[in-house]
Amino acid sequence: MDKVLQRVFSDARFIGGQPVEEFEKNFSILHNMPHCISTGNGTDSLFLILKALNLPAGAGVIVPAWGCIASAEPVSLNGLKPVFCDVHPDYYTLDPAKVVEKISPETKAIIAVHLYGQPAPVQQLKQLCEQHQLYLIEDCAQGHLTKVNGTVAGKSGVASAFSFYPTKNLGAYGDAGCVLTADDDLAERIRRLANHGALKKDDHLMEGTNSRMDTLQAAVLNVKLRYLYKWNERRKEIALQYNQLLSGIEGLILPQPAPGAEHTFHIYCIRSEARNALRKYLADNGIETAVHYPAGLPFTQAYRFLHLTPTDFPVTANLQQQVLSLPIYPDLTPEEVTYIAKTIRNFFTVSGR
Ligand SMILES: *Cc1c(COP(=O)(O)O)cnc(C)c1O
Repeated sequence: MDKVLQRVFSDARFIGGQPVEEFEKNFSILHNMPHCISTGNGTDSLFLILKALNLPAGAGVIVPAWGCIASAEPVSLNGLKPVFCDVHPDYYTLDPAKVVEKISPETKAIIAVHLYGQPAPVQQLKQLCEQHQLYLIEDCAQGHLTKVNGTVAGKSGVASAFSFYPTKNLGAYGDAGCVLTADDDLAERIRRLANHGALKKDDHLMEGTNSRMDTLQAAVLNVKLRYLYKWNERRKEIALQYNQLLSGIEGLILPQPAPGAEHTFHIYCIRSEARNALRKYLADNGIETAVHYPAGLPFTQAYRFLHLTPTDFPVTANLQQQVLSLPIYPDLTPEEVTYIAKTIRNFFTVSGR
């Protein structure tokens, strides 16, 4: 890492250049996709895809109610309407049966989010999109190399958005992102939009924005990309160890991979009605946890204006009170996992929950 960073410093070129081209080439080869367009971050990647699709003003885009606000913001930022849809009670990704109910004549696209590393049901969603003439967009920010029925995330829709935020399964040393697409025209439009409407200097075909990958970030990603597969495998091992050590605890729900899924465990999300007490108990025992997410998107201050209620999103309303993310990252040791699991077991035994 020191060596490749030193080379960027001595070349003194900090946006674009050879490391960025190399990353785009390797990431598209990894997915067997014709186009990879590097961007500034994952939110921009989604923004650029929607912008390039040129949907009619006010068109509806179906977005999961449960997840990261970055999946919804790019919709509104493009003058489109986020249509929140509840998620599957066991898999936490879009539930096709509920998506059908949200489709109206104004709907133009669906954003499928591979949340926590769990692949969204892209086959069923793709079918729905074909039936109703909608675009399927994949948000792969938490789903690097996750698979369902052998299909890797990022290949099923018109385009897919990736984030390389430092904590993602593939993380840069700052913000970075990219778009994958097989559509030549869309790829060119996205590339232009990400660089002030220009493919080369001063060639402004239209207005765009500034969303490019830093050379330093590309250099970091080129090194880390070689480890992505291995690191994902390590995450899966840790998840398996948690599953074994935490099975059979009453009042505790473990993550459940969807049928045909190869979950990549960006997050290992457990659920308990005693979430807050459990979280405090773990903190008191030196174990840091997180809550992804404290509120479903329709219930955040940002979307209050839509006047949506918990009865509209029963699964989301439950999840926000129950979810807890346990430590998971490739360097976590089997001994640490054992200690965490033992502490959780103690909590449920001692508290008699
Ligand atoms: C992180 C994330 C994003 C946004 O990516 P940034 O690079 O932080 O802009 C979008 N969607 C999901 C599901 C994410 O987890």
